[in-house]
Amino acid sequence: MLSHKSLFLGSARFTLQVKMRVLLVLATLLVVSLCKKKFDGDQVLRIIPKDEVELSLIKDLEDMIEFELDFWKDVADVDTPVHIRVPFHGLQSTKLYLESQGIDYSIMIEDLQAMLDEEKEEMDSAARGANPRNTDSFDFSRYHRIDEIYSFQDMLVAENPNMVSKIVIGHSYQGRPLNVLKFSTGGTNRPAIWLDTGIHSREWVTQASGTWFAKKIVTDYGRDPALTAILNKMDIFLEIVTNPDGFYYTHNSNRMWRKTRKPNPGSNCVGVDPNRNWDAGFAGPGASSSPCSETYHGPSAHSESEVKSIVDFVKSHGNIKAFVSIHAYSQMLLYPYGYTRNPVKDQTELHALAKKAITDLASLYGTRYRYGSIINTIYQASGGTIDWTYNQGIKYSYTFELRDTGRHGFILPANQIIPTAKETWLALMAIMDHTFKNPY
Ligand SMILES: [Zn+2]
Repeated sequence: MLSHKSLFLGSARFTLQVKMRVLLVLATLLVVSLCKKKFDGDQVLRIIPKDEVELSLIKDLEDMIEFELDFWKDVADVDTPVHIRVPFHGLQSTKLYLESQGIDYSIMIEDLQAMLDEEKEEMDSAARGANPRNTDSFDFSRYHRIDEIYSFQDMLVAENPNMVSKIVIGHSYQGRPLNVLKFSTGGTNRPAIWLDTGIHSREWVTQASGTWFAKKIVTDYGRDPALTAILNKMDIFLEIVTNPDGFYYTHNSNRMWRKTRKPNPGSNCVGVDPNRNWDAGFAGPGASSSPCSETYHGPSAHSESEVKSIVDFVKSHGNIKAFVSIHAYSQMLLYPYGYTRNPVKDQTELHALAKKAITDLASLYGTRYRYGSIINTIYQASGGTIDWTYNQGIKYSYTFELRDTGRHGFILPANQIIPTAKETWLALMAIMDHTFKNPY
């Protein structure tokens, strides 16, 4: 039997344990919040180079490493806007530089952290009590963390065992599975369509749209005659979280992370641009050889497992007819090439199909897209995904840049997710339908 004394001691010990646990939780929270990069006072500037001289002066900014500038929309051509995130500490010197050269700029985002706080608050309040038991109760109108998307995928597979399966095509540098959803109504190695979202991790509207597309495919099969016809003859592959390490990092450490998370030996800077890492004009103009650059091409082509896994999958499948890689932002639909001015041999057909796709897209809400080859529409970029897929013989290779044109940039408000996904779906259907009707 316990004496009063030992009972008291026991409860004191219990209280101490609780206190320790509370302290531990608080300490963890503190560490997490301290580790999360803040963007207080960071601004996004919009500059429109008026002539070649201004163009090269703005390009020079890329080499001023000490300013730590982040080009949200890269330097392209005269009269084409450039968007640059300028950290608070470099704001004065950057503006001084621009003013001293007589270059006009406007402030697109006044205080990035304020925008991120809003985004976070919205995510947290929506997340409270939300733990969907099935994909019908999944909230497509908000942004989700990686574990939520992974469990969404598993639920979708469990709910549609005859149509959806999950293939793990490899693992990320940090060991996360590279999950691909396969939508198939039968057959073996049918001609296929590939879709991916989120290869650049901070482009959150893309992973969110990808999740919506997955649900749309299972919902529309048997209802939408066009999609039904496609799925009766072809398979669709969809990789939603194409850069999982980066995506995890955008939620937990740095919302503005774009690259992979593999360390670069000999440098303090981490990560490779997975859209400069492909074996198509690798390391050419429009990619950087500096590990600290947002467009670092990596030590060698396909050095990133997130890229190599797709390369291996595409090669071993051997029957992929359309490949669509989805980015944000800028509102563009692009086809190859990015690394060379030489037009692709299917230029006329790809151009006409792009026009049809963006016309369909605009029919819903009037969202305007530009379209054309990468090099003629944005800028020269080498080592890009769809240049490689096109050179592999996948004729219908396209890249999207989803909403918006810069008002919110990568921080697109969650209430635009569903409208973005819906309008993009119309363009995807145009591409998939054309692929289906024009076998090659
Ligand atoms: Zn991107």
